[in-house]
Amino acid sequence: MAATGGASPEIRYNPAEIEQRWQQRWAELPDLYAAEPASSSKPKYYVLEMLPYPSGQLHMGHVRNYSIGDALARYMWMQGYNVLHPMGWDAFGLPAENAAIKNNTPPRAWTTSNIAAMKRQMDRIGLSYDWANEVTTCLPDYYRWNQWFFIRMFERGLAYRKKSKVNWCPKCCTVLANEQVVNGRCWRHEDTIVEQRDLEQWFLRITNYAQELLDDLDKLEHWPEKVRTMQRNWIGRSEGAEVDFAVEDATDAPDDEDAAERHKGTTVLPAVEDIKTTGSKITVFTTRIDTIYGATSIQLAPEHLLVKEFAAANPQLAEQVNALLEQQKQARESGDIGEIEKHGVYTGHHAINPFSGERLPIWVANYILAEYGTGAIMSVPAHDERDYDFAKKYDIEMRIVILPRRREDGHGDTESESLPYTEEDSLLINSGEFNSLGNQEAQQKMAAFAEENGFGKPTITFRLKDWGVSRQRYWGTPIPMLYCEKDGIVPVPDDQLPVLLPDNVEITQEGGSPLGKIPEFLNATCPKCGGPARRETDTMDTFVDSSWYFYRYTSAKYDKGPFDPEATKYWFPIDQYIGGVEHAILHLIYSRFWTKVMRDLGLIKNDEPVERLFTQGMVIKNGAKMSKSKGNVVSPDDMIARYGADATRMYSLFAAPPDRDLDWQEDGVAGISRFLGRLYRFVMKAAPGIRQPIVANGNQLHPAIAAVLERKLHQTIHKITQDFAGRWHFNTSIAAIMELLNLLVEHEDAIVSAVESDVRARELMTNLVLLLSPFAPYLAAELWDQLGGTSAINKAPWPKADPGKMAELTIEVPVQVNGKLRAVVQVPADVDQETLQEAIMADAKVQAAVADKQIVKVIIVPGKLVNIVVKG
Ligand SMILES: [Zn+2]
Ligand SMILES: [Zn+2]
Repeated sequence: MAATGGASPEIRYNPAEIEQRWQQRWAELPDLYAAEPASSSKPKYYVLEMLPYPSGQLHMGHVRNYSIGDALARYMWMQGYNVLHPMGWDAFGLPAENAAIKNNTPPRAWTTSNIAAMKRQMDRIGLSYDWANEVTTCLPDYYRWNQWFFIRMFERGLAYRKKSKVNWCPKCCTVLANEQVVNGRCWRHEDTIVEQRDLEQWFLRITNYAQELLDDLDKLEHWPEKVRTMQRNWIGRSEGAEVDFAVEDATDAPDDEDAAERHKGTTVLPAVEDIKTTGSKITVFTTRIDTIYGATSIQLAPEHLLVKEFAAANPQLAEQVNALLEQQKQARESGDIGEIEKHGVYTGHHAINPFSGERLPIWVANYILAEYGTGAIMSVPAHDERDYDFAKKYDIEMRIVILPRRREDGHGDTESESLPYTEEDSLLINSGEFNSLGNQEAQQKMAAFAEENGFGKPTITFRLKDWGVSRQRYWGTPIPMLYCEKDGIVPVPDDQLPVLLPDNVEITQEGGSPLGKIPEFLNATCPKCGGPARRETDTMDTFVDSSWYFYRYTSAKYDKGPFDPEATKYWFPIDQYIGGVEHAILHLIYSRFWTKVMRDLGLIKNDEPVERLFTQGMVIKNGAKMSKSKGNVVSPDDMIARYGADATRMYSLFAAPPDRDLDWQEDGVAGISRFLGRLYRFVMKAAPGIRQPIVANGNQLHPAIAAVLERKLHQTIHKITQDFAGRWHFNTSIAAIMELLNLLVEHEDAIVSAVESDVRARELMTNLVLLLSPFAPYLAAELWDQLGGTSAINKAPWPKADPGKMAELTIEVPVQVNGKLRAVVQVPADVDQETLQEAIMADAKVQAAVADKQIVKVIIVPGKLVNIVVKG
């Protein structure tokens, strides 16, 4: 037997050469990754990664996200699926305008060149996208359908205009959605405090779907639980009751109080006969109507209409209310409205508790916000944290009306109970006819009682607000609405869509929407009366673009509607969506809403867009998020130049499970590159033999060794197949390929010399390459070609694990040479002595130990060990 090493010429792994050659070959095959039409008889699989904003540079987070999706797409093709794996560009948005100001480049030119640059990067990485269905949201063939949807929603009352307090970022010069305000600051400008302004804005009525958006979360069982929880909290459903408190007529108040007490105003006054009321009422929302007998004041937001009325008649009060408003404004601007120091002022007025008939003093307080609930609360200091703090500060009466259940035997000893006592599971006291009810039962009965008597009702409220979509920006979809003096708001007729975004625009950061400064855009004709009309100059929030883009991917060139209904019927829902968890509430709630609206428009049948969602972890470096300011950014281009695209993407799958954060280590990329080089050299040695027709009567693998190698192969196939189906722990999949290679290399000479005539040896090599292909597609394509593969490797069938070959039917036999342990050989458990001896002699380590020596005898201790005695 020839010694190994040095005999064959050096085979060197050169990823740059291999990858560029294959990139060119793939570019000449436009159908390589094209989805088959909806008429395909194959089962479909729609795998989607979130589309990027075209900043001009891919970062490592993108590489990781796309490597996960790409491995899955390639695997599903090999499993025989018709795969849709598209990519596109979330191409509208503010950075293009900022770049325009900074570099004096028009947004369109800047965006277009960024897209080209990123597409080059994607091609260099070898991502398997169906570019025939590319979607670019800033092109009229896409955004015309944003406009079309907007008009459909307007017709159904789902798009409407109202004056509202808006979040205004003075740096962005535009309105921000609530979700874009983080701790009172702009999400893009961490140093900029968001201001409040009153503006006429367009809204989409997402609240119409609040209950369904909540209920259908239960159907999304293949979504991460954390995402579902975030959405549940964002929608924020709470059950409670509305109760009306009549306002007492202060001009004719009963005289059972002296002036001093009235001025102090913190005391609940007993019910009296014939209270006169003003006819106005204060509606409060409460989730704890069971504590209503404990209410000792009413608290109004400073902007409540009634406060304006009281203040109009009382200059001193007006001044005090203004101070409260100012405190509120400052707290909002500094981002801690939740922790505002509580201040309040007594109005001198009373409202009547409709349950007890008691007269409650009415206060104005700075911690009550007009935009939440009704802008009014009943204050129950004994059983609510905030009310307790406020009552303590202003010495307002506290009254205990619920007790822990364990006091059921109870003597009403509440003194020792520390206040505020807020437990849900409790019993009522001091509550008239509702005494001794459990609080759950009391809530139902009291809400029903209020409804029967016409002063309240059970209600459900949501934290979710309607979606403000107006932006005073240039680089977005023009809102397709006209304002006519005669006809009011008139939608642009469908046959005049798209309303094109003009290109000749001077972009500044001041003075509202740049579109308002272009007369050719602004001035239009009313389609109803033919008279002059003014065009809406706001553009749409870019979250509109990303709410439905994945439907367009199924038929990106369709022009009779937003998408071909036959195509979406076939491809939807998306089988697997992959992206960052930062999109859990914005993008993923808006796109669920959009899907439900499209369903109600009769465009689609599915209720939900995404069957399975996966949120990958971040790529970090030295424990911190990569950022320019920290100087720890690793550029994908650098990594690819140094180690190749295969090693870079494979490392991004190997270094951590995909749902965890990945700490980028360049050593690790180098390690993957060395592994690929080893695999390349090994396969290349066998390739010339495999390319030849098989010959009879040549070298065969020893049956014992063949069994060991095949078992490892089938175990590896089984493991990787399971990883793809389940938790996607690609790091362990890749580790399994490494182990397989290690074992094969141990038997390199035996395998290489057997490939000319042993089918099993050939299958070991071809399967090794097939298993590699979802993770390192360039190298796999090259080796597949070297092994004589005729069709593209992504269309070759994925290997099947044979359970019969996987089973652990082997034993390990230690082999000594002259009493010294030299090798451990794996053999079938039921091996006969002759086969055992052959297997031992075929082992490379044993051969090395006995080379050039004379074997005196072989002592076999069955089931224990083998000792070879040698001489010389
Ligand atoms: Zn901003
Ligand atoms: Zn008109």
